Amino acid sequence: MKEWFKIYKMKMSLFSMRRLIQLLSCIIVLTIGIQFYIFVAQLEEGIIPSIERPPGVEAFLPISALVSLKQFLVTGKINTIHPSALVIFLIVCMTALIVKKGFCGWVCPIGLLSDILAKLNSISFKQKVVLPIWADVVLRSIKYGLAGFFIWSIFYKMPIQSIEQFIQSPYNQFADIKMLHFFTHISNTALTIIFVLILLSFVIPYFWCRHLCPYGAVLGVFSFLSIGKIKRNPSNCTNCGRCEKNCPSLIKIRKKESIHSSECTACMTCVKNCPEKQTIGFSLSPGNLQLGQAAIALILISMFSMSISIAKASGNWQNEISKQAYLNYVMQNTLPWNSNGSVDPQKMEKMIRAMKNIQAQKP
Ligand code: SF4
Ligand code: SF4
Repeated sequence: MKEWFKIYKMKMSLFSMRRLIQLLSCIIVLTIGIQFYIFVAQLEEGIIPSIERPPGVEAFLPISALVSLKQFLVTGKINTIHPSALVIFLIVCMTALIVKKGFCGWVCPIGLLSDILAKLNSISFKQKVVLPIWADVVLRSIKYGLAGFFIWSIFYKMPIQSIEQFIQSPYNQFADIKMLHFFTHISNTALTIIFVLILLSFVIPYFWCRHLCPYGAVLGVFSFLSIGKIKRNPSNCTNCGRCEKNCPSLIKIRKKESIHSSECTACMTCVKNCPEKQTIGFSLSPGNLQLGQAAIALILISMFSMSISIAKASGNWQNEISKQAYLNYVMQNTLPWNSNGSVDPQKMEKMIRAMKNIQAQKP
């Protein structure tokens, strides 16, 4: 009875810890999104924003991060256009060297959405949909293909002069605004694609993460080198299969003593479901130091907070694009007509208001 109570308590604490970090991450992302939305909304009114642009928004500019990485590797410079895009990308890659794809399982909001969809799937369907191996392999190659294409184009095809031109181009400088407009002025095509992806991730759990996410593919490569991994002690293992049955990444855990798979997200579901003591756990090599869920959470939180603090202290966090430059860009690109060429009265009214605000701000 006591033993079962201990397992129950362990399950509850594990649930709370990973979900807690995922929820915290979602709150941070939402706060950044709202702050950036207000920043751009004020620009669109012709006003110099009263709030700062949140640098964390650059987490959503992976191409800019890759381009900045090449510039950094070749010249040793961190550019002042999107420094936090590079910083966040490097932090995420560093976490993969310790806790495998822990970023996907613990931090990424899409990972949380995928967990929710997988839960809804298990409630709705008695039988889990598992793709045949050949289809799984073919589909998984898509994310590696996409990641490989971007890496090849940026690191092999683009000379450093083109990289620097791209970094300074208006396209890259104001990519964060374009990204926001993608969502605030979303087209029917984009909406349909997002709906189809959500539906696919509901029917086939973790469809986006497992088959399509190029960010996850890059992390998967780093996670091969991870010093932390799931290890199973075959002498205590009763071969019950609960770990495998519950693994969201469909890893054949019973076939191995150490899980090297690039798909492991350090979610600890296998550990949570194992009924045997000291049989399976996440451990660091060398030394075989066992990490519980609290330790994984602490590693992720401290890596993010320490690296961001260093970036801030060294002036590599906030970009150097002035609010005036943002305002100029938004004004130049605020067109009062629709895509079919007709004048949109609301947009026209907004533009006139913005022009008046600009006039009023002139000394
Ligand atoms: S269940 Fe275990 S093996 Fe599977 S992804 Fe989670 S931590 Fe990795
Ligand atoms: S759940 Fe534990 S005991 Fe069962 S197969 Fe997995 S490692 Fe072995």
